Order: sequence, then C-alpha cells, then structure tokens
Amino acid sequence: MSDQRNDGAFAAGSPYGTRPESTYGGALSFMRRRYTKDLAGVDVAVFGVPSDLATSNRPGARFGPRAVRQASAQLVYGPVWPFGFDPFERLHVVDWGDVAFDDGYPERMLKAVEAHADRVLAAGASLLALGGDHLVSLPLLRAHARRHGPLCLVHFDAHSDTWREEALNHGSMFFHALGEGLLDPEHSIQIGIRTHNAETHGFQIVTATEVGRLGPGAVAERARQAVGARKAYLTFDIDCLDPSVAPGTGTPVVGGLGTAQAREILWGLAGLDLVGMDVVEVAPVYDVGEITALAAATLALDYLCLLASRRGGGPV
Ligand code: MN
Ligand code: MN
Repeated sequence: MSDQRNDGAFAAGSPYGTRPESTYGGALSFMRRRYTKDLAGVDVAVFGVPSDLATSNRPGARFGPRAVRQASAQLVYGPVWPFGFDPFERLHVVDWGDVAFDDGYPERMLKAVEAHADRVLAAGASLLALGGDHLVSLPLLRAHARRHGPLCLVHFDAHSDTWREEALNHGSMFFHALGEGLLDPEHSIQIGIRTHNAETHGFQIVTATEVGRLGPGAVAERARQAVGARKAYLTFDIDCLDPSVAPGTGTPVVGGLGTAQAREILWGLAGLDLVGMDVVEVAPVYDVGEITALAAATLALDYLCLLASRRGGGPV
C-alpha cells in the first residue's frame, strides 16, 4: 500500500471526490475531507464547537465533534445511498477544525463562534457545525441572520428549546433567538417534540407521536409547506432520536424517532433553500457502540447530499 492511500485529511491531492482508505486508521477529519483553515473556493466548511457548559443535565457534548469525525470514517465510500452520487464530486467540503474559546469565560464562546461563522460566510462558504450542546446554535443563527435576515428554522429535537428563561442555556436559546429577531416562527417547524412547553411562540410543532402517525413523507411535506421558497436553517439535536438508537446524549427522552424516520424526513427536504446546519448534543461518553455518533455523522452527510442534489442530479 502506498503512502498516499491513507491520511487523506492532509495528503489528498484534490479537494474533490472520495478516496477510500482504511476505516480504522489514519488521520481523522469529517468524512476524511481536507483539514485546513484555507477557505478559498470552499462550498461547505465543517467545524466543531466543543462546548457543553450550557447543559442542564449530563455534560459531555464537548467531545461530540471528535466522535462524529471518527464515526464518519466508516461512511467514506463515494456514492451515498439512496442518493446515488458522491456529494464530494460536486461540493468542495473541508474540515476547518474546532472553534477555539476560553472555557473559563463561557460567554466568550458565543462571540468566538459568531466571529468564526461570520468569517466563513464572508468567504462565500456555508457552514456545517458539529456541537457541542445546543446553545451553539445561537451564535450560528446570529451570523446567518445578519447575512440572510430572519430565518425559517427546521428544528429536530425532543425539546422545544424555547422555554421562557432569562438564563441562556441549551433549553432557552431559541426563545432568545426569537427575541433578537433571528427567526421567522410562522414559517418554521419543530419535529420530534415530546416535552411540555406551554408556549409554542408561533412555531408549527410535529410531535414525535405525530411523526409516527403521519409518516416521514407527510412530515417532510409539512416542513416544505412551512418553509416554501424562504431561506431555512437546519438544526438537528440528536436527542430527537429515541435513546435506544441515540443513547449518547445529555438529556435523553424516550419515545423518539428512529434513524430511518429521521433520515426519510431529511431526504424529503430536498429542494429547500437550506443555508446552514448544525448537529448537536452528541455526548460520546454515554454512547454504545458509537451508534449515536454514527447517526449524527450520517445525518450530516445526508445534509451535504441535499446541498449537492441542488447542483445537478436528482433528489431521491
Ligand atoms: Mn433536546
Ligand atoms: Mn435541543
């Protein structure tokens, strides 16, 4: 085996395409994409936000980005089922690394992530962020809304994260985002909810029970109807999934979605103008057999396929 067969994260010659390498060795990056700070010509910058100081229960999501990168190594194949194409033939995707911040000053994480997101967007790239707890979505939304205006939110979660609290944590950040005018709740949707919140703040809500009753195709249709041609930001809290398929998370809630349901809903978002995504709340210390991290990596890859499907080739 030649030296060039492994470590594509820094040894790949081209930013496009997929080079198979051993799933169990070599330098890690998300989907073995080039690990670089160079944003020239980049379509999507993947990066981690290893922050979990806003969790209300079990910490550990700071290790999420590393776990998702590792799990993604076994997805590096080329054409992605069921799309039938390699998104990396169409999109220049890099792994930018993790945003740095001083954990002695939690509020500085917000500024650091927002400034980083601003830089990426100014370079003409879009973002795929790996959390971290769900608070990391707030600075990402601030940067996106500054560029695009108020955004439709397509939000997968067991929790609404809109609880009316002055405290800024992973259960209140969308309440604060609403107060800051970052979101367009009338054209937003929350999917998989199964915790009580007396207020909906105008969001359309599809509970986990309704996902089961309606089926993924009808839920995706509701999301498409809600968003229409507007710009939308996709946020996937891994605790939307049932703890039996995603135990590695801080605030698990039973009665959630299966991975097949979640993926089918995501596939049904093809055609929407998705301007960015985050996958959050993967806490690998509670995981079993890496299944939570693998689910997160797969959902992130599905998102890249949705973006790539807008560049030619048909959606599923
Ligand atoms: Mn949640
Ligand atoms: Mn959440």
